Amino acid sequence: MRPPASASILVPNTPGSRYFSASAAKGAGWETVSGDASTCHVLAASKARALGEWGTKLGKPDYQSLRSLGWRVPLPFEFPFAGSMQHELFVNSAGNITFERPESQLYLERDTWPDGTMNSVAGSINDRAAAGQEKMICVLWGLYSPNLSKNGIYVRRAADEVVVTWQVERYLWFGEAYQPLGLNIFQARLLPSGTIEFTYQQVAEKDGITGLFYGGSDGIAFDALTPVSVDASDQSLKISSVSATLTGTTLRFTFQMAKPIVRSVPEGMLWYRVFLGQGPHSCEIGFEVGRKSRPYLLRDCTGVPGFKVNGDRLDLYVSTFEVQSVFGKGMRWSADVLRDAHQGANFQYSAGEDVFHLPLPVAPALHFATAKGYREGNLLEVFHYPQVSKSVFPHLRYIYQRVPPQDDMAVVLTDFRIDDLHNHQGSTGGGYNVAIRGIGNGPATVYDRPGLIGSSKLQVATGPIFLGPRFAEFLNDGDKHYHNYANAIGWMAHELTHRWGMELQFRNPEDGRIENLSGGSGHWRDFLNTPSLYSVWKMFSDKPYSEKSQMEGFVYEELPGGNFRRVPNPWNLPTGFSALDLYAMGMLAPDEVPDTFLIAEPRFVGIGVFGGRKVPVRIQDVIAASGERHPGARESQKEFTIGIYLLHEGKRSAYPDKLRQAEGIEKMLVEYFRVATGGRMVLAPRAISPVPGGRPRASSR
Ligand SMILES: [Zn+2]
Repeated sequence: MRPPASASILVPNTPGSRYFSASAAKGAGWETVSGDASTCHVLAASKARALGEWGTKLGKPDYQSLRSLGWRVPLPFEFPFAGSMQHELFVNSAGNITFERPESQLYLERDTWPDGTMNSVAGSINDRAAAGQEKMICVLWGLYSPNLSKNGIYVRRAADEVVVTWQVERYLWFGEAYQPLGLNIFQARLLPSGTIEFTYQQVAEKDGITGLFYGGSDGIAFDALTPVSVDASDQSLKISSVSATLTGTTLRFTFQMAKPIVRSVPEGMLWYRVFLGQGPHSCEIGFEVGRKSRPYLLRDCTGVPGFKVNGDRLDLYVSTFEVQSVFGKGMRWSADVLRDAHQGANFQYSAGEDVFHLPLPVAPALHFATAKGYREGNLLEVFHYPQVSKSVFPHLRYIYQRVPPQDDMAVVLTDFRIDDLHNHQGSTGGGYNVAIRGIGNGPATVYDRPGLIGSSKLQVATGPIFLGPRFAEFLNDGDKHYHNYANAIGWMAHELTHRWGMELQFRNPEDGRIENLSGGSGHWRDFLNTPSLYSVWKMFSDKPYSEKSQMEGFVYEELPGGNFRRVPNPWNLPTGFSALDLYAMGMLAPDEVPDTFLIAEPRFVGIGVFGGRKVPVRIQDVIAASGERHPGARESQKEFTIGIYLLHEGKRSAYPDKLRQAEGIEKMLVEYFRVATGGRMVLAPRAISPVPGGRPRASSR
């Protein structure tokens, strides 16, 4: 148990002011001790302040989301925050208070699944607050258990103060997250003067976010880029300039266009893009416009950028500490607007390229307990496990400088806990180095990316991921006992199979139209019937479970009266492949693929029961829409070299128990692919390679 910690931050806040000053209360202090870069921060107390009265425990939440529950609380007095007088606040289960909107709504806009980290959440809140999208008092942000009988959140309202107290433990699900380290008890007091006080009685966890997120400001401006192409034929795509500005911990990129910013296009896509790069490292910050629009971060950067659209001006915000963890100091940047109209028309207008150097550190890390005086931008401090890029690219580049790049597939593991909220990770998807036609656009397009992944042979990769609780050899979900690393195999099988999509289409026999069989992101549609052809449950469980495709869809049973029952199945466990998966993978010839069906115009009848029209899905209609698979099942690759890498900190060798665990997982993965493909596919493993830290560096701030 950690000693009690306390901190007190006084924030004079007058309406209309753009900045806050912060100064630590004398005597009280939350000391932050930055450990060695490979260890996490330690919270320690110099002096604990007693918690004030807790008040009433909050009951049923007013707002629900998977990650953050919310309660609306009217304020007994006007409270100044973020430049305006607030009359109500939202208490959120994730250890924070928001204004104007509950975090359950905000969370959906910066969803952290699957690769969120404490740093990327802090960055996203910072970016979005700078853009005016969020206003948050962050006492100790974390993903706490939604079980309100175990966790309690309390509110006390009086004429002279509002007190919110959290007594919370982190969440752990069968397929996600980490063993909680204990209870966390912390409190925020809001006073009519605008003073905000945080008190930490007990903090068991080692990571979290504290801060005040109230907006941005205009900081140091860098030279603007001017467009290379001034003769744009489409005036709405004509760039007048793109500029960069730095405020506190936020970089802002501003597109000044000749015409109003486009928020939707009827067909095709449009992107406003900023590229950052240095050597092999790159980030893309953009605003993607289709039928709807959304901001995004790509390549080595993760999280959700802030954005603001005002007439002909678009602002994109990204946190400097996110960018610095990729580049260090100094990088090239460029910007463009790209229009892909799906008709072969492809317009791209560049705003040129320039170099700017960010001094390092741009803004020294804030330590709340000792922060004093004036500070630009949001105030935040992030406590986190070692920051290891959640993008697999830098790890692969590092690995393939040391190990010959012979893998077709690669998995990167760590033997130590890293900054990662869910203990999950997506994959690179298909399309790397080897083109396959007839199974969708992704797998048919070869990205010229040996520079990005360090290999011209690799086809798919996933990781990095810590061998956390769900990677155990034996597991229990409360109903069944599992063995042979069931959850690890379920995750790896899914991510590696993204090499082939799933992106098949078919010609609907009812009306002859071409339709997707995937619901986007390479997963089968929810109403496509995808039973496994070869069952695998016996390898992993003491009791049978239903097996839909490893790539989603569902198994449907036809009921009398024309309804369909969706057979329940456990989440993320190893299941076999449907015939369509095996066809896309090149393991089944067209004449070996049995018909299946999808449910058109589905309607909810009862729990797990749907009405709708049964539409046959036949392989000849798939080929009519997607084209013939090339290479065909006879010539397709059946043997795949897989490399599994275990990252460990550089100053020690890999932990032997984690190495044994990785070896056990690899053995089962080989067996899984053999059984699930009816003996057609062979994974040829290379010996597990322990990889000492280097570029996949542990850094902390
Ligand atoms: Zn997936």
